[in-house]
Amino acid sequence: MIKVPFFDWAGLYNERAEDFARIANETLSEGGFILQKDVEEFEEKLARYVGARYAVGVSDGTNAILLGLRASGIKPGDEIIIASHSFIAAAQSIHFSGATPVPVELDEDDWLVSPEAIEAAITPKTRAIMPVHVNGRVCKMDRILEIATRHGLEVFEDSAQAMGARFDGMGAGTIGRWGTYSFYPSKTLGCFGDAGGFVTNDQDLYERVRAMRNHGANKEKSIPLNVDVWGTNARLDNLHAAILNYKIGYYDEAITRRREIAQQYHNALEGVEGARLPPAPNADPRYFDIYQNYEFCHPLRDALRKYLADHQIGTIIQWGGFGIHQLGGLGMERNLPKTDRFFKESLLLPLNHIMTDDQVGHVVQKLRDFFSGGQR
Ligand SMILES: *Cc1c(COP(=O)(O)O)cnc(C)c1O
Repeated sequence: MIKVPFFDWAGLYNERAEDFARIANETLSEGGFILQKDVEEFEEKLARYVGARYAVGVSDGTNAILLGLRASGIKPGDEIIIASHSFIAAAQSIHFSGATPVPVELDEDDWLVSPEAIEAAITPKTRAIMPVHVNGRVCKMDRILEIATRHGLEVFEDSAQAMGARFDGMGAGTIGRWGTYSFYPSKTLGCFGDAGGFVTNDQDLYERVRAMRNHGANKEKSIPLNVDVWGTNARLDNLHAAILNYKIGYYDEAITRRREIAQQYHNALEGVEGARLPPAPNADPRYFDIYQNYEFCHPLRDALRKYLADHQIGTIIQWGGFGIHQLGGLGMERNLPKTDRFFKESLLLPLNHIMTDDQVGHVVQKLRDFFSGGQR
């Protein structure tokens, strides 16, 4: 029987184990541990790949956001608007910057933050909008930028799930003042541990974040003798940078494979009564989605999930089935009925570039079997 785990963690390494082992050996045998040439090389590659002037390698996607907020002068009392259909990491970084995250509704055509909901949530305290490009699709940035300009707000992009996604030719993370990426193992460019990136076209901001990730040191590699900005330790490990330098070399192929699988899921689910699907890969030429996830909705979600599990197919309900406004105790409670409904019906199918054709075919067949009836 074919098994399709939601993640194949070991597979991430084993797909090219010999190359990864060689890279690790070369890097470590040279003593390349902290802020060595591989980090600089990765920063150049990342900036070029996404189309930003500057990139900074950082420890993870969450700290990338926090550094961006601190470097932008976000302060207590400020409000930042964010979709409730987001990972708590973005809201946490907003919280730790001293500001208040304000969760709002999603749109039902792309599951991403609703521009109308953003505009309705603006108050005199609002400082910024943080679009989170969930599932590898860029938010409606034309309308978001227009709203931001009209109200004098900053735009910061949490692109943890969208490195390489584009909207109108612009790379996710390069459209607002700054953007961030995560290279957590399950992400589209997954490393073998925590890793993250920060990009901007603003030289001043770049220099501040670059210093802040290394205790405020204004000269790399030196101990911080001349510190003029509060910093922390949020460095990208040099070993992880070396791995990422290699993996970014076949990232285009990985994205192509993800888009193919998404198209197959789309074909299997299109026309299914009650199903609400994300946009198909070629549905709109303005968007280039990278399908970090294939997330769709159906009222029979729980029965489907069990059926797929019975056939050795792993699925996930993103973020445990909770929008950030539903996380009790964090003080973000709101009435967001569309988001509530979404989390009752949404499901992630297995999707990654190392899935075999047999695995994809098995998922497609079981989706068809379930929805053709008689299988429940
Ligand atoms: C993964 C993720 C993050 C956090 O990234 P880490 O590298 O795990 O800290 C932030 N936002 C979103 C939307 C994510 O999916």
